[in-house]
Amino acid sequence: MKLVFDIGGTRLRRGVLDDRGEFVLLDDRINAGDLESTLEALIDEALAKYPIDFVGVSVAAQTFQNRILSAPNINLGALKGVDFAARMRTRFSLNAAIDNDLKCAAIAEVAARADVSSLFALFIGTGIGGAYAENGKLIRGANNNAGEIGHMPFEKTPFLCGCGGAECLETSASGSAIAKWSEYYGLKERKLSDLINSDNPKATEIADRFYRGVDRAIKTIAALFNPRVIALGGGLALAEKSVLSCANEALKNAFAPAADIAIELSSLGDKANLLGASFLDLQPK
Ligand SMILES: [Zn+2]
Repeated sequence: MKLVFDIGGTRLRRGVLDDRGEFVLLDDRINAGDLESTLEALIDEALAKYPIDFVGVSVAAQTFQNRILSAPNINLGALKGVDFAARMRTRFSLNAAIDNDLKCAAIAEVAARADVSSLFALFIGTGIGGAYAENGKLIRGANNNAGEIGHMPFEKTPFLCGCGGAECLETSASGSAIAKWSEYYGLKERKLSDLINSDNPKATEIADRFYRGVDRAIKTIAALFNPRVIALGGGLALAEKSVLSCANEALKNAFAPAADIAIELSSLGDKANLLGASFLDLQPK
């Protein structure tokens, strides 16, 4: 059986999958306190009940070869920079792997579509991020940052991105961008649909900036990766129908022939990261 975790800035989800890939345990808690001790206690508890042979972890962090390099919103404790796989082998005699949450989501989207040879996962929620996989394998780049579309240069903004950049796409086209811009203009609207329906021109400006960002992301993905499928997921993209319409409209004017690229909404819901983590043992490091 496989034990999987999805570690975000506020929540920590845990799952156990049986050999058919079905969840036999799924729980969720506030991610508070030191991550290393929290994880070890949850692993101990699962090992007492299930014959676990692999631990896969999805984390909202920059990762490289099973190490968490940076995670501004998570209290990593002693796990920062440590080889997680080696730690799990020593501590629990278990095989393990850890990877960025978008990389895990992309793996899950690929696994859900056996006949798709090239797929870009574009997730828009609090942030905006992406990952690309070809023939079932992630394309990682030199530092596991390939596909990090949220940090591509877009329009300069008065706020800095989490990475320190002043013109990252993420500060224009993400849930956190909408919140920051609304606060900046003193608006009470916090949702894309509320901004569109507002009479305030500043609200429309924020929504327009968001859609311009999505448009640019789709055209960039089409030109650079030419994927057969763009899997569109994330809380904001799934909740707001206009995001898919905007993406499809962008594709009509993209460089790669739009007819060859399909934009499909993720059907995995909030389990994409957990499912992807369960397939990390099949991915190149
Ligand atoms: Zn950035």
